[in-house]
Amino acid sequence: MKKIIIAIDGYSSSGKSTMAKALAKAVGYVYVDSGAMYRAVTLYALDHGMIAPDGTPDAEALVAALPGIEIRFEVNPGTGLSETLLNGVNVEREIRSLRVSDHVSPVSAIPEVRERLTAMQRELGHDRGIVMDGRDIGTTVFPDAEMKVFVDASPQVRARRRFKELQEKGMPADYDAVLKNIRERDHIDRTRAVSPLRKADDAVVLVNDHISIPEQMAWLIDLYHQITSRLQ
Ligand code: C5P
Repeated sequence: MKKIIIAIDGYSSSGKSTMAKALAKAVGYVYVDSGAMYRAVTLYALDHGMIAPDGTPDAEALVAALPGIEIRFEVNPGTGLSETLLNGVNVEREIRSLRVSDHVSPVSAIPEVRERLTAMQRELGHDRGIVMDGRDIGTTVFPDAEMKVFVDASPQVRARRRFKELQEKGMPADYDAVLKNIRERDHIDRTRAVSPLRKADDAVVLVNDHISIPEQMAWLIDLYHQITSRLQ
């Protein structure tokens, strides 16, 4: 069967990665979390003093450092899940912290950061058979993706999900801080000059405030079958 590219874009904590991961597993595709790549670059910038106390990244220093930033994914044999490595060090847990979440959107707005990560993402999708989630996958990274989904839910529902996820991981969390972070990221991601978050014209929208994960999965797999059967 012809392998396709599946782009799942949408707002922060809308459940994109849960869906994308499960879909990749169900259809035997590779899953790539593009947000993890922006988070890894942000962690690098934080750890190298490239973010001012007011949150402004030193774009010049970060752009100069980009050639020395290597990001890879590796499957954890214990969990079977893909984890993020930054210059050979596993940073999967650290990149999910509120410290990184609070600074990732300004870093992601730097055009050269986007250019570099977009090139890496295209390379990962070179052989198709990939599910990638993010903000600009269906619009910029793979405008020719055969299947595009745009996921949305209210900020409150998304903040509750993120709060629960952080608590489950034993990471410090405060609901109001999580909600504030989600609103701020929505705003920056939607209004940045390069590849802002927006629905691709040919994406199918999924609003999932009141849909269970099994219902979402059934919908998604059905959509995948409809699209691939048309391509035969
Ligand atoms: O998906 P996740 O919430 O982990 O993404 C973290 C941040 O990375 C987003 O808020 C956004 O600023 C940035 N991002 C992006 N483009 C992508 C994926 C993520 O700008 N394709």
